[in-house]
Amino acid sequence: MLPAPVLEKAQKEMLDWQGLGTSVMEVSHRGKEFIALADKAERDLRSLLNISDSYKVLFMHGGGRGQFAAVPQNLTTQGDRAAFVDTGVWSKKAVEEANRFIGADVVASSYQDQSGLWHVPQDKVVEVASSARYLHYCPNETIEGLEFNFVPKASNNAPVIADMSSTILSRPIQVDDFGIIYAGAQKNIGPSGLAVAIVREDLLGQARKDTPAILNYSLTDEFDSMYNTPPTYSWYLAGLVFEWLLEQGGLSAVEKINQHKAECLYQCIDNSDFFNSQVAQDSRSWMNVPFQLGDSSLDALFLSEAEKQGLRALKGHRIVGGMRASIYNAMPLSGVKTLIEFMNEFERTRG
Ligand SMILES: *Cc1c(COP(=O)(O)O)cnc(C)c1O
Repeated sequence: MLPAPVLEKAQKEMLDWQGLGTSVMEVSHRGKEFIALADKAERDLRSLLNISDSYKVLFMHGGGRGQFAAVPQNLTTQGDRAAFVDTGVWSKKAVEEANRFIGADVVASSYQDQSGLWHVPQDKVVEVASSARYLHYCPNETIEGLEFNFVPKASNNAPVIADMSSTILSRPIQVDDFGIIYAGAQKNIGPSGLAVAIVREDLLGQARKDTPAILNYSLTDEFDSMYNTPPTYSWYLAGLVFEWLLEQGGLSAVEKINQHKAECLYQCIDNSDFFNSQVAQDSRSWMNVPFQLGDSSLDALFLSEAEKQGLRALKGHRIVGGMRASIYNAMPLSGVKTLIEFMNEFERTRG
């Protein structure tokens, strides 16, 4: 979901961007107008996340999964190993991709407690081999709806690498806690086709010789994220989303709204005898809220009735089943309220 004011601005500017008589898609990415757009997008992102000068902000191709390969390629040599926390589907995919290049060791995993509720691993310091080159984790598992409310450290002080695809910009973070933060754009930043990587300066310049140029952090930095033609329209829309977030009051304001949205929805689930959540309180995502119906034979009916109310995309991932409400930044509180009213009514009449 993208914020409506962003889409409206894009619509208004579609045929005539900045009085140039063309769309932003049609101008050269090396022209001064686009470069100004690119610079402003970076400045706004830096301001939103309070990113210091010791980090590079890179706009790259290949989405989140491109970064699954970019990280090992940029930080390791053949024969190296790195440590991974496994909290679900996206963690596992990152491990699978890293294993093409290095030895990826899973050193901590999500777990179910005695009542069957899921938790992220609770260790603030994750025990890793002394040779581990980095510690990779996924702060918010999009499919399982498991989110960390702290940043783990590696016992050997190796850099922490975070796949923030589904949680970036949902609340303030301390960028200094991380070696690299990356995110595919399409959950909380803008349209697909773009990935943002925030890379600590001292981690540049170590890429393997055979790293594809478009995944090489140093080259990307050297060419101001324009080694080849960047995904210009995605970049433009991302810039509009950053402006919109700043207009909302920045991430501390956005955090309050997101927390409230999530609390309302979890409260509806917890207060119900019909819906339930399999995620423990300490690990609940603010962005992705999976829930189950007491009677899964009503799943199809729930989805079709929801659709009639304009409530779409509620089907859970096939791996976990049930339902999942993704309530990213662009989802207004009113959308969550509509879902809650629908759920209450469904429980009353069908539950
Ligand atoms: C969606 C997602 C990805 C994959 O992003 P692509 O851009 O499709 O490669 C990776 N990690 C997480 C946490 C995601 O939610």
